[in-house]
Amino acid sequence: MKALIIGAGIGGMSAAVALKQQGIDCDVFEAVKEMKPVGAALSIWQNGVKCMRHLGMGDIMDELGGPMHNLAYQDGFTGDIMTQFSLKPLLDAVAERPCPVSRADLQSQMIDFWGRDKVQFGKRIEKVEQTDTSVTAYFTDGTSATGDMMIAADGTRSVVRAHVLGKELDRRYAGYVNWNGLVDIDTDIAPADQWTTFVGEGKRVSIMPIAGSRFYFFFDVPLPLGLKEDRTTVVADLKGYFKGWAKPVQTLIDAIDPETTNRIEIHDITPFDTLVKGNIALLGDSAHSTTPDIGQGGCSALEDSVVLGQCFSETNDINTAIKSYEEKRRFRVQDLVLKARKRCDVTHGKDMQETQDWYDDLRVEKGENIILGIKNTIQDGPLG
Ligand code: FAD
Repeated sequence: MKALIIGAGIGGMSAAVALKQQGIDCDVFEAVKEMKPVGAALSIWQNGVKCMRHLGMGDIMDELGGPMHNLAYQDGFTGDIMTQFSLKPLLDAVAERPCPVSRADLQSQMIDFWGRDKVQFGKRIEKVEQTDTSVTAYFTDGTSATGDMMIAADGTRSVVRAHVLGKELDRRYAGYVNWNGLVDIDTDIAPADQWTTFVGEGKRVSIMPIAGSRFYFFFDVPLPLGLKEDRTTVVADLKGYFKGWAKPVQTLIDAIDPETTNRIEIHDITPFDTLVKGNIALLGDSAHSTTPDIGQGGCSALEDSVVLGQCFSETNDINTAIKSYEEKRRFRVQDLVLKARKRCDVTHGKDMQETQDWYDDLRVEKGENIILGIKNTIQDGPLG
């Protein structure tokens, strides 16, 4: 049995590993010649870490995961602590730790785990042909490949999705711009073992420790789509948006490297019901494209792969396994996208009164509610 895996992101690489665990041969095709991740880092929550362990890649998490032991929210302007608590109860409840990781390092190590020489780079799929028993991928370089099935992990702008759904889907602008990057750890910005978030005016500034004594940072600002801003103006832009904010925020802006700071207009896609067509399955962002507001896009791609592997452990019939994958994943991924959308709106001031109520709640939060919310999200995953 041969699977064509389209895309060598978190989704594609984890799917290849999951299918290999079931004895299925995989050929991996990646559009770009050199991987350039869109973000500096990401938080792999415990559901994702459990999937990585299940797939034999736990060591990668142990090596790359930063020491995120505590969580705090601070008032953006005064810097006053609104809430601050240990994440240990969450670790105890789900028997795993969260791992904020460098995205480039994660991506690179996942490819190495699979075998870099077994990924065919520079292969951009442009067309799919499908019969009852085979799938053929046609690439923009004029070549093609045929297998018994296809796992399309070709990201939020998926080409294969239109084939599976029979129509193109629009991405929806979520209403805010995210700048992200890495800086050396500096305790004048935030404690080295804490996920720290400054909030105010529907904006936020967040800092997470990753391995290698580095902070992953991101700034979110509600803004119209399509502003003419880029790397050359990033420091001035952020100084403007965060004028009057607390000293640690100004220290962070002074520390960033514009050359390596990403600016992303955040989008998602309204959830849809169809994730598969016969012997083709969508996986990861091609199947469910979410805002990053609950840090679950990559984690849910990892969940998809684990479930896909589980489905093939139950049957050798490709169409049955792929249909079962869809049944097991559909509601979970819809729920995550909508949860993230709701969180996005509250965080970014879609209704400023709701956002103000959330700030007020944070000032009396002892940690239980936030931990319960994260725990519920994690425990609904395939590995509990
Ligand atoms: P991608 O990572 O997009 O990979 C798709 C791959 O397919 C790419 O390598 C691409 O080059 C390739 N490709 C595209 N088109 C073709 C084609 N036509 N032919 C062949 N190959 C193709 N998730 C978390 O879990 N935690 C977080 O904290 C988090 N933070 C985020 C922060 C930001 C700012 C953003 C934007 C996202 C964040 N995410 C987070 C989401 C996460 O990045 C994605 O959900 C995850 O990368 C999806 O993986 P994927 O493999 O499905 O897609």
